[in-house]
Amino acid sequence: MKINELCREAYETAKSKGWHDKPVETGTLLALIHSEVSEALEADRKGWDGDFAEELADVCIRVFDLCGSKRIDLEYHIRKKMEFNKTRSYKHGGKAY
Ligand SMILES: [Mg+2]
Repeated sequence: MKINELCREAYETAKSKGWHDKPVETGTLLALIHSEVSEALEADRKGWDGDFAEELADVCIRVFDLCGSKRIDLEYHIRKKMEFNKTRSYKHGGKAY
């Protein structure tokens, strides 16, 4: 399955469950993505491998929903950025992380 198909499916599923009945601010959707990242951090800290993987999936699903709701061509932008990253210097010129 392609990434943009996952975006459409995640958005349609969220929409069918009522999560897009009213317009949702982008900041709210980004905060929800962040909450899933925090849940992944917590699962990792506790050594819960299955939960860690599930929370990472939640992060992706939230990103897919956001992109689906805004009709963002995520597949294109991921490929474009990955190709750009290949051209960057070692540690991007000396960044710590
Ligand atoms: Mg979660």
